[in-house]
Amino acid sequence: MKRPTILIIIASLLMFECTSKQEQSENRMKEFIAGYETIAVPLFREAALASWNANITGTPEEWAKSEKASFELAKIFTDTSSFAELKELKNSGFVKDSLLARQLELLYNAYLGGQIEPELLAQQIKMETEISQKYSNFRATLNGKELSDNQVEEILRNSKVSTELKATWESHKMIGPVVAEDIIKLVKHRNMIARKTGFSNYHEMTLKLSGQDPAEVTQLFDELDDLTRDSFALLKDDIDTYFAKRYGLKADELEPWHYQNRFFQEAPVIYPVDFNKYYEKQDPVKIAAAFYDGIGLNVDAILAKSDLYEKPGKNQHAFCTDIDRSGDVRTLNNVKPDSYWMNTILHELGHGVYSYYNDRSLPFTLRDAAHSFTTEAIANLFGRFATDPVWMNEMGLIDKNESEKIMPASKNALRLEMLVFSRWAQVMYRFEKSMYEDPEQDLNGLWWEMVEKYQLLTKPEGRNMPDWATKIHVALYPCYYHNYLLGQLLASQWYYYITTNIAKNPSFVGDKTVGDYLREKVFMPGSRYYWNDMIEKSTGEKLTAKYYAKQFVE
Ligand SMILES: [Zn+2]
Repeated sequence: MKRPTILIIIASLLMFECTSKQEQSENRMKEFIAGYETIAVPLFREAALASWNANITGTPEEWAKSEKASFELAKIFTDTSSFAELKELKNSGFVKDSLLARQLELLYNAYLGGQIEPELLAQQIKMETEISQKYSNFRATLNGKELSDNQVEEILRNSKVSTELKATWESHKMIGPVVAEDIIKLVKHRNMIARKTGFSNYHEMTLKLSGQDPAEVTQLFDELDDLTRDSFALLKDDIDTYFAKRYGLKADELEPWHYQNRFFQEAPVIYPVDFNKYYEKQDPVKIAAAFYDGIGLNVDAILAKSDLYEKPGKNQHAFCTDIDRSGDVRTLNNVKPDSYWMNTILHELGHGVYSYYNDRSLPFTLRDAAHSFTTEAIANLFGRFATDPVWMNEMGLIDKNESEKIMPASKNALRLEMLVFSRWAQVMYRFEKSMYEDPEQDLNGLWWEMVEKYQLLTKPEGRNMPDWATKIHVALYPCYYHNYLLGQLLASQWYYYITTNIAKNPSFVGDKTVGDYLREKVFMPGSRYYWNDMIEKSTGEKLTAKYYAKQFVE
């Protein structure tokens, strides 16, 4: 009888030690979080407010304040002893409580990203700034005349003269040789930083630190490629037929400059519907407010703090910002009565409701979207309604006859837009991934290999230029483009889930169950779950390209 008793005592001692180690580690984590929040919460708010003020006024003083506040916030994550503490807690494996463990994971990644040697980071910023200046100083030159990017796009969209199109396209591509060498140097520099941080290259580091597994993302891109390849090929035939007629050429004589866009990233206007005329006498803000209120996600508190219309000096685009993760949510817009701004205000308020309806009992770190692309998905889900004839009818913008009349063209146009964009995003994702894996390879060749494979364009004969370097995102917004596509896939997945299981009508109008569902399953969980777990909890499936294909391919 003695032995078992001793064993039991030893076992319970071990267990006791285990619990106490867990308790100890979790207490240390709690202490860390308390210290972190004391510093980070006020700085987060200050930085968000300063950026907001800079964007609405545009004055150099406000921009200087904003830059300083962002720097102070970023500095938190450079602290080496804090990182050492997080690393020890992470390696111990004893922080098991789910909320604490999730915070540990997110904070560990944030601090890991901040551990880059200041000297290396300074060099990176210097290289990026120089490249950025080269892009902004560059003007395409055509017949001795300088052209802005907007003018280039205008000629590509409107001219029907092949020689002019070719010359314009080629003149814009001259930025390539200006920046290509610098970008390759920057890519190698970023890779060196990644390796010092423990990753095999910068692409892998960027995805992993943002909470994405590159293999998981690649698998989604493969799935989407399979689902869109044939439909895109058919659609591309239609596009080519249309352009061949437009330019008086044979389809196989079409060149990359014939697709009305520098990169063939946007759909050509084959199915014209003039949506603007339906919004001419409307206030998109009022419509959006009524719509969101109708689905149980009132946005009055957001609008009250927002800056919605044009003003001198103000940022001309649109964004949404969560100032304090405690209900101060604002959106900057420059609303005009047209369909673009209808889409935009619906989109930005989608980000807005995601932030505003968070769960304020969650810790600060978890009161955020599961991932930047999941909030993008909510924004896309709502933005798409701006050109949805059923929604427009139910919102009282057009009558039933008009709605039915424009339905086929609207559907085709959206389908075209989505498919064209999805093939372009394939090029961007796969090119960047491969470039960071091996920056020494023939990048000019790789780029055209991708463009030919995914966009079905033909490389101009004998062309060997750094055309990849003409897309500014490759250099300055690295390894992020894929999130735009993931945001579209998820918007479709939620749209299908909601219209099948939750909403009574496909436009959501007046259906409060939609708001209830989103609040409970998407907004309130914040970032407490890994993004793909949140998607599975809210739709019964992990992120899949199936529903995007269902909506836009079949
Ligand atoms: Zn957005």
